[in-house]
Amino acid sequence: MAADPDRPVTPRGVAILGSTGSIGTTALRVLARQADRFRVTALTAFSNAALLAEQAARFRPRYVGLVRNGDGEHPGWGRGDGCLIEAASCDAADIVLNAVVGAAGLDATLAALERGKRVALANKETLVMGGALVAQAAVRGGGELVPVDSEHSAILQCIAGRPMTEVRRLVITASGGPFRRWSKHQLEQATLADALQHPTWRMGRKITVDSATLANKALEVIEAHFLFALPYDRIEVVVHPQSVVHSFVEFVDGSVLAQLGVPSMELPVLYALSYPDRLADTGVPPFDPVELSPLTFEKVRAEEFPALALGIGAGRQGGAAPAVFNAANEQAVAFFLEGSIRFGDIPRAIESALRRHGDAPAGSRDAILDADASARRHVQELFRC
Ligand code: NAD
Ligand code: MG
Repeated sequence: MAADPDRPVTPRGVAILGSTGSIGTTALRVLARQADRFRVTALTAFSNAALLAEQAARFRPRYVGLVRNGDGEHPGWGRGDGCLIEAASCDAADIVLNAVVGAAGLDATLAALERGKRVALANKETLVMGGALVAQAAVRGGGELVPVDSEHSAILQCIAGRPMTEVRRLVITASGGPFRRWSKHQLEQATLADALQHPTWRMGRKITVDSATLANKALEVIEAHFLFALPYDRIEVVVHPQSVVHSFVEFVDGSVLAQLGVPSMELPVLYALSYPDRLADTGVPPFDPVELSPLTFEKVRAEEFPALALGIGAGRQGGAAPAVFNAANEQAVAFFLEGSIRFGDIPRAIESALRRHGDAPAGSRDAILDADASARRHVQELFRC
């Protein structure tokens, strides 16, 4: 049902985990325009105290948390890893936007779902590592997961309440990243500066590297598997360099719906907050199909980008394999970002970690965190000089 624009509404409380990052700052731009619908109740960041202070002064949340808040240099602010859970659990927060990067966001997602809140999920890594745990937490607590990732937001918008029995196949689009046309040989020589030149999106450094290796697309296939409960052989990837078609849904009658839009994360962030309603908003430039044309599609060059098949293979394997894939990737990308390994080492590290730890136990949160830690140690040992 569409929102009635004349109906007075009580603003919904939104906690933002990772408010100083790319998605976090994008969300605050959206929320500044939608102040009569949403109220910012909590903000957290890792170490950027100056930006967090600026945001706190502007949005006046009840809770502010800085993971690296030393000995309480900022009195009144939460500190340490626990501040994500504190922010996610605030009574005043109806929606928790998890925009933290990496495995660090897992417990906050679980805590919010256990308390019956909506989690607007950008932090795909935690769904990949703990898909079953996350689903159980949602069932136990009555919380709901709504994707922020543009591809999954597109799929949700295309499905629009139809039963999943009517869906035949999902086709997730991938920009192809900065190395779409690079040869295997060139890829071996790719530098950090090359990898950070994403053609269509401005994002945090970790996801930008993931987009260059296509590990991001593997994470997204696993994310789609858990969000939409479809088997892996019904989730495909196609390269679409313009990032205008955000994904396709093919229905059982052969009809295909796609969701399009200018490449701006403001659109999926707003939809994750307003879902299933749509709110009037003019934050992004009007859609101009002529300006955005041509729209083209290509096959993925799977051999040149082995991280994609490794990740999908881990998803199919199930158990702890997706957590191992994610953790090995996070550790390898951290090394690549600090300049200590080459671009081609990233998929090699993932493959090695999966071979050694892919069938680790995965029956509980602790087992998954153990698999995550083993995979990180494995990658650290691989590159120890
Ligand atoms: P980013 O690096 O720009 O921001 C990350 C945020 O998380 C920062 O606010 C940082 O302070 C916080 N953070 C980092 N490590 C932390 C830790 N250990 N504990 C607590 N907080 C921590 O990253 P981003 O590009 O905004 O991406 C965030 C998430 O959203 C990632 O999971 C990414 O895959 C996903 N995502 C991003 C985009 C995008 O356009 N940027 C699109 C789709 C999905
Ligand atoms: Mg995406």
